[in-house]
Amino acid sequence: MNIIKHLFIERCPKCHKALKNQPNTFPAQIIKFCPDGHYEKEYHPALESCIETIKS
Ligand SMILES: [Zn+2]
Repeated sequence: MNIIKHLFIERCPKCHKALKNQPNTFPAQIIKFCPDGHYEKEYHPALESCIETIKS
């Protein structure tokens, strides 16, 4: 449960705002993003991996 909780309190590395959930995504894929568009994070539970994108 700690891992799931951690996913939900991630913050943007640039502006430190709490990341938002992307609606209407695959159930097996969790996407979080900065409300100002600096940062995106895709989590793939099936692959047990994260893809992070930092935008300039
Ligand atoms: Zn940001």
